[in-house]
Formats: sequence, structure tokens, C-alpha cells
Amino acid sequence: MTLRTLDSLGDLAGTRVVVRCDLNVPLQDGEITDDGRVRASVPTLTRLLDARATVTVISHLGRPDGTPNPKYSLEPVARRLGELLDRPVTFVPGTAADAEPGSGPVTVLENLRFDPRETSKDAGERRAYAEALAAHGTAFVSDGFGVVHREQASVYELAQVLPSAAGLLIAEELSVLERLTERPERPYTVVLGGSKVSDKLGVIDHLLPRVDTLLIGGGMLFTFLAAQGHAVGKSLLEADRIPVVQEYLRRADELGVTLLVPTDVVVAASFAADAAHETVAADAIEGSSFGADGIGLDIGPATADAFAEAIAGSRTVFWNGPMGVFEFPAFANGTKRVAEALTEVQGLSVVGGGDSAAAVRTLGFADDRFGHISTGGGASLEFLEGKRLPGLEVLGWEAGE
Ligand code: ADP
Ligand code: MG
Repeated sequence: MTLRTLDSLGDLAGTRVVVRCDLNVPLQDGEITDDGRVRASVPTLTRLLDARATVTVISHLGRPDGTPNPKYSLEPVARRLGELLDRPVTFVPGTAADAEPGSGPVTVLENLRFDPRETSKDAGERRAYAEALAAHGTAFVSDGFGVVHREQASVYELAQVLPSAAGLLIAEELSVLERLTERPERPYTVVLGGSKVSDKLGVIDHLLPRVDTLLIGGGMLFTFLAAQGHAVGKSLLEADRIPVVQEYLRRADELGVTLLVPTDVVVAASFAADAAHETVAADAIEGSSFGADGIGLDIGPATADAFAEAIAGSRTVFWNGPMGVFEFPAFANGTKRVAEALTEVQGLSVVGGGDSAAAVRTLGFADDRFGHISTGGGASLEFLEGKRLPGLEVLGWEAGE
């Protein structure tokens, strides 16, 4: 079975289509700080509107934990969507399941996660929620790539309740990720960073036999340094993962994979934008002026050079997770160097992850300087890990096709 695409839904003129988008954008004081996911949702919606369908858009935003919370309202996102589509968008407050059916061309319902059934562990509850959502249309288009690894009502059950197909964004994301897993052009380099250390360690296991080079930055680098026997002060550390990481280091060696762990890091006195900081050798973190209180917040310049060189010389690069706390300009250099190197790749460069995508944009890189910026961090990692993705399976896709 292959992914069912929009064409499989037939002529949609005059029908109302429910579209699951991933409009989970970062917000600060009600302002969208990176509208990448809203922009990524536009092609499918435009295609449906051009086919003279009307659409009801559904999405989650943040983790309101099953109760209405104005902080997580989709209203500002609906406004931005209207600007990008250049069409009137009706936002329906309240809860998605109880909303009146839309009448205009584009209706956006309130945050799906205001209802606990969206993410319920009980399949019956999810099914009931999906049935309520299904009342908003006669067909379902799944286009929230960032959630395809989740068995949630609007992703999994809804695709079974209505005739369903994948939207253009999911189809595009999938075709890029397949290029990473099926005969990638070599050298193939994967760069990992960010803060969700234990989430990301799993992907290393699967990638080791597949890549030529693996670069370790961000919060997870300290678990690697600890695995090499170095003290890391107050840096992010998952001590219970040290044995697993030691095993990765051993396997990389055995497989002939170049696994680069930083040789220098930027250590700070505290976790703050204006914290005093200095660059030290990776095996001497506690030798900085901050002693055992030092916190590693970025890779050092020598490491950034080595990473940039490895990346720029590769034909395929996948990058997930910032190299440091890029939100603080003093600790953004490593992330900036890596982003720059990705723009120089002769071949396919892919950036995956919400914060990674936001990082390249806030650091001033245009989207088109990369081969692809994925809207899904967890989803793209789980894809690379070879895990089953319920939100794709339910659309007819099978791993290994
Ligand atoms: P993504 O969303 O791209 O998958 P993550 O959510 O895993 O990435 O991680 C992003 C966060 O990681 C950023 O907010 C960044 O500040 C943080 N980070 C990077 N390096 C470090 C570090 N050394 N210590 C603490 N946090 C870090
Ligand atoms: Mg993130």
C-alpha cells in the first residue's frame, strides 16, 4: 500500500473537507515568533480551495492538557493563516467538538487539545472525539506532519472515520525523508543536538550502521563527555544513559563511523543571557573559573570548525537540535556555524525539529538556503529510527516501501 494522496479523494467541488494541520507555532505574549508551520500548511489549503472545496482546519497548539486555556488559543494563528491565504478565515472559539459547522470558505476550530479525548490513552474516547470532529466535513485530509508519530484522535482515528488522504506537506516531507533512508548520497552526516537528550539517543542506535559521520552537540554532548570519563559541572547530563552512550562510542569505532564529540565547549557561570562565560577544553570543564558550577551552553570554536568542515564536505546532511542555547546570542555561535555549513552542502541538506527550524530563521538564514526544513522534529527522528508511524500507516503508507 502506498500513501493515499489528495487525488484519491476524487472531485471535491462543493464539499467541505476537514484538514488536520500542525499549526503548533511558538508564541510569545500572543505573538507568533516563527510562522513556518503556518506557511507550510498553505499549499494544501490553497489546492483544496482551488478545487472549490471549503475547508475546516483543525490543529493543536502547545500542551493545554485537555482543558481550555486562552494562552493556547489558535486565534492568533487563524489570523496569520488568513493573511497568508489572502482569504477570509473564520475562527470558531469554544471547543472543536461542539463548534457550529463552518459556513465560509475557511474555518479554523479551537485547539484540539482543549478536549482531553484528543490525546486520550483510551481508543474509545479518541474514536468518539474523532466522530464529533468528522461532523465538520465529508472528507479528511491529514497534513500535520509534526504529529504523524502520534496515535491521537485527529491524526489516527479521524482518518478511519472519514474518507482520508495525505496532504501535500506530508507527501513532501515523506519524499525528502525517504531520500535520507534509501541510498543516501555519501558522505552522509547526521548532526544531533538540542535538549531532549533521552528522546534523541534512540536515533543514534538506528543511524550508526547507516551514516558516515555523526556529530554530537547541544545538551547531549555532556552525556558523551561523561561517557568518556570527563566531569561536566552543572551541564545537562543524563547520568543513567552513560552506559548506553559508551556502547555507541564502541560501536561507532567498530563500524568505522566518524563520531565527533566536541573538543572544546563554552562554559557559563549560570544559565542566563548575560552570564560570564569562557571557552575551555572539553576534558577540563570544571577547570574554568566557575569550577564545578560551570554550565556548558555551546560547542567551542574549534569544535564548530571541525563540525563545519565535516558538514560542508558531505553530500547528504540531516541536522536536528541546536548546538547550544542559541536563544542567548552569546551561545549561538555553534548553531550559527553549523547552519552556515549546511547552506554550503552540495547535495541534500535537511533541518528537522521545531527549535532547529526556529534557530535557523532567527539567526537570519532564508529557508531556501537549505534543501528542506522539516516541520516535524519528533516525527522526522522517529522516521529515521525506523519506528512505526501510526498517522502515516492509517493513510496507506508502509515502512520500507
Ligand atoms: P528541536 O526542537 O530542534 O528538536 P530540542 O527541542 O531538542 O530541539 O532542543 C532545543 C533546545 O535545546 C533549545 O531551546 C536550546 O536552548 C537547547 N539547548 C541546546 N544546547 C543546550 C545546552 N548545552 N544546554 C541546555 N540546553 C541546550
Ligand atoms: Mg523542541
